[in-house]
Amino acid sequence: MKSTREQTILRIIKRPTQEALLGLIRNEEYHNDIKRLAGEVRDRSYGHRVYLRGLIEISSYCKNNCYYCGIRSANANALRYRLNREQILGCCRTGASLGFSTFVLQGGEDPWYTDERLCGIIRSIKAEYPGCAVTLSLGERSGESYRLLYEAGADRYLLRHETATPAHYARLHPPALSLRNRMQCLTSLKEIGYQTGAGFMVGSPCQSLEHLAADLKYISELAPQMVGIGPFLPHHESPFADFASDPSMATEVQDPLNMTILMVALTRLLLPYALIPATTALATLSPQGREKALDAGANVIMPNLSPEDVRGAYLLYDNKASFGTEAAESLEKNRQALEKSGYIMDMSRGDYKQNDIEA
Ligand code: SAM
Repeated sequence: MKSTREQTILRIIKRPTQEALLGLIRNEEYHNDIKRLAGEVRDRSYGHRVYLRGLIEISSYCKNNCYYCGIRSANANALRYRLNREQILGCCRTGASLGFSTFVLQGGEDPWYTDERLCGIIRSIKAEYPGCAVTLSLGERSGESYRLLYEAGADRYLLRHETATPAHYARLHPPALSLRNRMQCLTSLKEIGYQTGAGFMVGSPCQSLEHLAADLKYISELAPQMVGIGPFLPHHESPFADFASDPSMATEVQDPLNMTILMVALTRLLLPYALIPATTALATLSPQGREKALDAGANVIMPNLSPEDVRGAYLLYDNKASFGTEAAESLEKNRQALEKSGYIMDMSRGDYKQNDIEA
């Protein structure tokens, strides 16, 4: 028998309006129930399995200048590197020897990675590790480029929409970047056939709770297969360095840790089959961040397979969490931490499960 509160939550989730979602966000009385229900939904969809993805940060060069990001083009003090095909394959080799079967190639928008180069890299990974999944997270490209990369063998693409409110998007990005194009990219990716990931930051400058409700509404309409949600963390070389003390950047999000967990939980309720990572940013914010996200419905973690000598250069925000220095050691730590919290570490591809309605 569901309590009245649970019934209200499930009724809103069934037909989510922005207003009703905002009501759930504002009313703390609902939060524990939302998180518990989300954990139950994840268990029904995927059990207690947590899928591992090997993250390879392929480039810290970026042509964009997102105001929040440590590798933005205007940060003259950022350390810049890019990995070539052989180096990326080396990371995959390390990952594959440890049992990883998904490789996530993430980086700034670096024009060095032409379609031709990227297609070659994807084909090489697929040839060496047949059956593995390749996820790309390389920002905005043309529809034609996304199609070529898909045909070369890429399976998934992560592109957070960052915020679904145009005025807020404009506060976080320079005029050259538009929410309209970001959303168009997400639509193209889905149409091409990628398992597509959207997502947003929580507690970013000038963010209101209404913005978060708009993010959830957008997610419920786009229905991406993956959703990445992480707290905004300031970078000392960015225009948001003084975020905490500057009232002009104030956010309505008072408690970014718990608000991020709540967003994970609501996303899980809205999209029961989504693959939702417990993000590194969350682990950076709090040692309990990952476990709390898993308990509220997350089911993916992304250990770092990047070469050790470049890890310190891929700094999107200050004090980035790292789990062990060496990949094997990190994997063992992950396994132990997951088992301790009652989860099973799963190194299989962990593809999106179509739900009954979509099938
Ligand atoms: N260039 C690709 C893109 O734009 O999607 C992928 C790399 S981008 C650096 C990956 C994600 O990092 C962004 O989508 C953003 O949400 C997150 N990020 C960047 N700066 C951040 C910050 N200061 N705090 C938290 N997350 C941040």
